[in-house]
Amino acid sequence: MKNIYIIGVGLIGGSLAKDIKGINPDVVIHGISRKQTTLDEALSLNLIDKKATLDDIENADMVIISIPVDATVKLLPTVLDKISDSGLVMDAGSTKVDICKVVENHPKRRNFLAMHPIAGTEHSGPSAALNGLFKGKTNIICEVEKTAFKLQEKALKLFVDIGMRIRYMNPEAHDKHIAYMSHLSHISSFMLGKTVLEKEKNERDIFDMAGSGFESTVRLAKSSPEMWTPIFKQNKENVIETLDEYINNLKQFKEFMEKDDFDEVYNEMKNTNYIKQILNGIA
Ligand code: NAP
Repeated sequence: MKNIYIIGVGLIGGSLAKDIKGINPDVVIHGISRKQTTLDEALSLNLIDKKATLDDIENADMVIISIPVDATVKLLPTVLDKISDSGLVMDAGSTKVDICKVVENHPKRRNFLAMHPIAGTEHSGPSAALNGLFKGKTNIICEVEKTAFKLQEKALKLFVDIGMRIRYMNPEAHDKHIAYMSHLSHISSFMLGKTVLEKEKNERDIFDMAGSGFESTVRLAKSSPEMWTPIFKQNKENVIETLDEYINNLKQFKEFMEKDDFDEVYNEMKNTNYIKQILNGIA
């Protein structure tokens, strides 16, 4: 693999660029972006070796699309049109149903692999890119059987070389599970941030009193609305379902408080402590 093109050199695209270069210094990383200023920044941070345009994609051994999911749905068919017969196109989008659907009948469907690396931070843009972001993290691959076998092998070798574990899922299961594991956490954090901002108009007080509990719970509220709005739009049904369940739990907790039923308040928290075992991998 000699020429890798990354469309969208922000947190995910830039971090992949760093790790790929780390394991294979001879690879030439070409960056493609909407804004020239973003490409200039990626070049000055050494995330990419060269600037490129969509017309250069015919020379790519591999293309990684890491732009918001609505933009991915629009661009992916064009990128597949341009890829050579032996080239591989992958996307890193946080939703998978709409992305897989838009290329289901594309003549080059076998040149595409749908993935979602479960790794990230609340920061965005080229300066957010990190070395080793994907080490020890899971990469969810959807509809692997629809990708040409040789291209699957190429992709899997790359993921394993940068330290990722692989899980396979169909796009529907992916979008349903990820609504709980990621999308709900982001909404919960955004709305916690909103609630506190509205109440505490004096921002200095928030800053002074922000112990690690508030700071860590509200961390995701710093995330980019440009990236998250299209995710919620594409995964609307699943996200609404998770919100219904979450709101019911909040209401029930409030009711226990109103009834002075602190045994149930205690039980709610005690039962939820089980999350410790799950997250420590011992459940
Ligand atoms: P990011 O840091 O904001 O970078 C995205 C890049 O896409 C930007 O550099 C921007 O370049 C470009 N872009 C933004 N809007 C665009 C549009 N409408 N059309 C074309 N290009 C656009 O975002 P990211 O966190 O790397 O996310 C990239 C993809 O990875 C998304 O699909 C996201 O769902 C997925 N993902 C994110 C995470 C996470 O935690 N952040 C984790 C796993 C997967 P310009 O400045 O040139 O516009």
